[in-house]
Amino acid sequence: MKKISKLLIGTNNKGKYKEIRDLLPKNIKTYSTSEFNLKSPKEDGLNFIENSLIKSKYFSKKTKLICLADDSGLEIDLLDKNPGIYSARWGGKGGDFDKAINRVYRELKKKDKKWKQKKIKARFICALSISYLDKKISSVLGKVEGYISNEPRGSNGFGYDPIFIPKNKNKTFGEMSSLQKYKMDHRFDAFKKIKKFL
Ligand code: IMP
Repeated sequence: MKKISKLLIGTNNKGKYKEIRDLLPKNIKTYSTSEFNLKSPKEDGLNFIENSLIKSKYFSKKTKLICLADDSGLEIDLLDKNPGIYSARWGGKGGDFDKAINRVYRELKKKDKKWKQKKIKARFICALSISYLDKKISSVLGKVEGYISNEPRGSNGFGYDPIFIPKNKNKTFGEMSSLQKYKMDHRFDAFKKIKKFL
């Protein structure tokens, strides 16, 4: 299989961009969407895989470069797997992560007043897709299981990191260094499955 030597990282999210760049082999020349002044497409897929494909095809067609894009989010079992593919949208138009976290706590309380006394199972999911123009090269799904913490802890990372405790750990992702988080998270799990193309 011919390896990819030039790749567009199809995300406008700085946290994801940094993590994906850190996962890629150093010899791949990467491009970011900001270099091309690209907006994000409408994510109207029904699941993470569909949305990652929408993004990778859209950005590839705009730039004529092979594109790796992700779609990710947090599933909380007690909330019927929400926010799920709506994880970014829970932050409102401005992508305010505090707002998204407050909504999680509000919805948990609505479901069960005593939720803090229980283990609230959750997982981060990441779909990664590589496309060239309108053609899919590969799509994979990765995940990391864990729990929701009773209050936000730590200020590292982005998004829901301060409220997610991975299984068998005591710290939230927000309390971990980026290197510690990267080697156990959903994006790394997906990356292992798509690595052979890179
Ligand atoms: P997307 O750009 O539609 O894939 O939005 C994914 C959203 O899920 C992000 O804006 C975050 O709120 C959340 N998310 C995805 N991955 C992570 C992560 O690694 N840590 C924290 N939040 C994440």
